[in-house]
Amino acid sequence: MATTTATMEPEPIPLRTLTVLLNYERVISDPRFKNYRLTRSSISDPSLIDRTKASNPSEFAKLPKSIERTSITLFQTYDEPTSTEPPPTVCQIHPNAFLDAHALTDAQRELLYYQTRGHDGCYKAIGLYQLFFDLYGLENKISVQIKDEEPLILDLATRMNLEFKIRGPKLHTITAFSGKELSLLNGSKEDECHVVGVFECNQDKNKWIVVDMSRMQYGEAGRGLFGENYFLGTLTQFRESMKKICGEAIVGALVHPTLVLGGNVENELRLRTCAKRAWERWQNREKEGWCAFCGKPGRDLQKCSACRNKKIFYCCKAHQKSDWKLHKHTCERNQK
Ligand SMILES: [Zn+2]
Ligand SMILES: [Zn+2]
Repeated sequence: MATTTATMEPEPIPLRTLTVLLNYERVISDPRFKNYRLTRSSISDPSLIDRTKASNPSEFAKLPKSIERTSITLFQTYDEPTSTEPPPTVCQIHPNAFLDAHALTDAQRELLYYQTRGHDGCYKAIGLYQLFFDLYGLENKISVQIKDEEPLILDLATRMNLEFKIRGPKLHTITAFSGKELSLLNGSKEDECHVVGVFECNQDKNKWIVVDMSRMQYGEAGRGLFGENYFLGTLTQFRESMKKICGEAIVGALVHPTLVLGGNVENELRLRTCAKRAWERWQNREKEGWCAFCGKPGRDLQKCSACRNKKIFYCCKAHQKSDWKLHKHTCERNQK
């Protein structure tokens, strides 16, 4: 950065900001959804569940007893026109979609966007932090602010991964693509693995910080403490919030972060590009902002008018409203 001199420590990146930036890059580049648009959803057409059950009885016969809700989302190929505009984080509706799908609200389309793209995403999400920190410099620090408390300044050396089992899943999701056999299934068996990032704060477990970028794969219940589309909070808050997602989140093990990207070169290349983009955006933050809620960049962002010093932007009114539950705790409007 041009403004940083040798005597100045670089500003530690807030973990929340980093998560918003990485998550945006991750979801918009998910290759599984490239050239697919949504055609049907059980949110707008509950009869889809019974019809899917009738045609796939074996999939439903072995479902865990703990399942409280099923969500099915169907996608169909669509030749997406090339655009230079940064994409929004909502499912685009296929022109041939049923009427009820066209009637999905923006909030429902956003939920389905994160829910479907979060599938099988926890190791990739963890890997993204690692790839970012490689660019950022492991000797540098990050800051963590959950609500309005003084930010914690943490060493990257305190970072670990927490692997555990989702026992007794409450949400069963099926994401299917027309013309493909592959369906993305969540909650169809007991004991699915999940992994989240953890920053250890001394020996005080109450202060351990958990970050989970892919948690909305468990639907609305996966949202963060203030309605974010990721989770950031203490370990205690994390464990408490998992009760909405499964019967028991069995803590498996804390492991040192290693890159587990599935050995897929194309995938790794994509994630490296995501990390690089987030790094460039952070370095360029004085010139170009992003939506505090979804991470979308762009020239037509609206600034929070109450914040004079802080640069808080939104891509739309809905995201400003969604972010208020969190932002009200630090907005200059409420500070004397
Ligand atoms: Zn936004
Ligand atoms: Zn504000």
